[in-house]
Amino acid sequence: MGRVYLPATLEAVLEILSREPSARLFAGGTDLLVRSSAVRRNEGSLVCLERVEGLSGVSESDGAVRIGACTTHGELMAGGLIRERFPLLREAVRHIGAPAVRNMGTIGGNICTASPAGDSLPALHILDAEVELHSAKGRRRMPLGRFILGPGLTALEPGEVLTAVWIDKDQGFNFHHFEKVGQRKAMAISVASMAFAARLNGDGIVARARCAFGSVAPKVFTSQVLDAFFAGKPLNEETLGAAAALVREGVSPISDVRASEEYRRTVAGNLLMRLEGAKAAGR
Ligand SMILES: Cc1cc2nc3c(=O)[nH]c(=O)nc-3n(C[C@H](O)[C@H](O)[C@H](O)COP(=O)(O)OP(=O)(O)OC[C@H]3O[C@@H](n4cnc5c(N)ncnc54)[C@H](O)[C@@H]3O)c2cc1C
Repeated sequence: MGRVYLPATLEAVLEILSREPSARLFAGGTDLLVRSSAVRRNEGSLVCLERVEGLSGVSESDGAVRIGACTTHGELMAGGLIRERFPLLREAVRHIGAPAVRNMGTIGGNICTASPAGDSLPALHILDAEVELHSAKGRRRMPLGRFILGPGLTALEPGEVLTAVWIDKDQGFNFHHFEKVGQRKAMAISVASMAFAARLNGDGIVARARCAFGSVAPKVFTSQVLDAFFAGKPLNEETLGAAAALVREGVSPISDVRASEEYRRTVAGNLLMRLEGAKAAGR
């Protein structure tokens, strides 16, 4: 029978992990309880992160925003700093599950689950988020794009804890959009999702754009060619149609119970076509 630890400090977490390397970290539990039959059978120890000082909340320092790994999606949505600085991220986490899931599920859990359908991930990629990791050996930081290795796979080493996500404060975008297609409106894992952010000049021409897609490749799909394609163009039907063709060529979706490979590929391109309407609506 496993033990449940409720440490109050990061030092205590690291000490438990060095004593019991097989112990599982538990934040909100909304993925762990669903995915791990060992946890449901009460096998192996759990280290609950909920009470660990310094792992929750959003703060600013040195031109960047630090989001504690155990900050829930609900807290992210409610926070003024996220609303003001990263409305794209707020919009993305608003699409996770339903209020009960958002009040338990954390950003750290969403990242460490490393699902291609993780709704915070496309927005975090666009914002060039970095993860902060702690172990008994010390602290390291790396770009999210290098941390997530594939479906369910991360660069987290044994004995290591994700402690925070860092995002540069000044992103310089003045237009953003997040959209997710699922099998129903709420409580749906995405069939395809898209996060888009751009700097538009006065007459609506793109100065700089970033685009990322979820659920259409083993990892979040981004493309420098696609981002560069938008530069100097308006977000009209012609631009978006050509960009949609690039996306459909670039993605590598799978077929599963939720959707076929072909449907996902089509939808990924279609999501881009929604940008013209979003821009007209002033979002
Ligand atoms: C009904 C339902 C609907 C859902 N809908 C969505 C949805 O629409 N979109 C979506 O993206 N997700 C959805 N999810 C999945 C889940 O809610 C999110 O991925 C959530 O963010 C996971 O966070 P958590 O804190 O609950 O993670 P946990 O379940 O606690 O942990 C998940 C994994 O990450 C590890 N982990 C957690 N925190 C850390 C840390 N700080 N350091 C190292 N490892 C860590 C755990 O060991 C575990 O392997 C849904 C889940 C349910 C049950």
